[in-house]
Amino acid sequence: MTDDPLHRPLLEGDRRALSRAITLVESTRTDHRARAAALLDALRQEGREALRIGLSGTPGVGKSTFIEAFGMKLCAEGKRVAVLAVDPSSTRTGGSILGDKTRMERLSREPRAFIRPSPSATHLGGVARRTREAVSLCEAAGVDVVLIETVGVGQSETMVAGMCDLFTLLLAPAGGDELQGVKRGIMEIADLILVNKADGDLKAAATRTVADYAGALRLLRKRPQDPAGFPKALPVSAVTGDGLDRAWDEMRALADWRRETGHWQGTRAAQAARWFEEQVREGLLARLERDPATRDRMRGLAQAVAQGDRAPEAAAAEMLESLRGA
Ligand code: GDP
Repeated sequence: MTDDPLHRPLLEGDRRALSRAITLVESTRTDHRARAAALLDALRQEGREALRIGLSGTPGVGKSTFIEAFGMKLCAEGKRVAVLAVDPSSTRTGGSILGDKTRMERLSREPRAFIRPSPSATHLGGVARRTREAVSLCEAAGVDVVLIETVGVGQSETMVAGMCDLFTLLLAPAGGDELQGVKRGIMEIADLILVNKADGDLKAAATRTVADYAGALRLLRKRPQDPAGFPKALPVSAVTGDGLDRAWDEMRALADWRRETGHWQGTRAAQAARWFEEQVREGLLARLERDPATRDRMRGLAQAVAQGDRAPEAAAAEMLESLRGA
């Protein structure tokens, strides 16, 4: 149990409490971390779950337009929606362009929706931790669908996929027959590829692009957590709203199938276990780095290795030996 003052209002779905709880998990202060951990542990016991959907796409593909239209649709169906963002660029600029409320004006005014931009942090691991904890807080607050948005660069997709139930890739219609340089790794984690802007002059190109990706997806090895026909490619238009119902139906069908077959629970269990290990590993490293004697020894050995005085293997073995019982 926890007597945290945020506990009850959070469970009641109070938006201010949710905001403040996310600010709490974003803090790195030791006392804040302890409070956040206790709160998350207490909330977990409620067993509330949302559908967590990852959404990735390069800038300009229409992510915010899509999230706004899709989010509004879900709200109109009576769902509560949260939008979180993982923006690796915010680690440099100190602020996020993703999840920005000004990009989703209608959704940000919608009482059933909650939008939170990416935290600025010094490294992606920090952003990952905070986002994951924010997802848990949204679930405890009674959110039905959590959308986690990220740009199509680097490690952020893999990280977001590691905290989602479904992963969606948003693409624009291709001009020619090129597959837009989408990395194979991203194709492999995508459950749905949505080709956006399937409207007006771009409609024909979108249809072609959907066919190209459907073909490419068929070539990928089928995964055990996929029912027949998945992963899929579909056309959508965030502007006209065409295809959004179908996209939602497909997401729900996939989520239901995974629930019925146990893959959902298996994936969540594996994600939680991996997360636990990562936290322990990070905590251990941070603890070692805080100890001045350990830091000095580490630096000394690194220098000896760099100068060719010691072999890396022997230096590492000496370092590890010195940590026995630490
Ligand atoms: P983001 O950078 O991925 O968030 O992309 P935005 O949502 O800001 O959209 C980039 C541009 O694409 C804007 O000019 C949008 O109006 C336009 N756009 C987004 N979705 C659609 C769509 O479904 N159809 C068309 N024609 N344009 C779109």
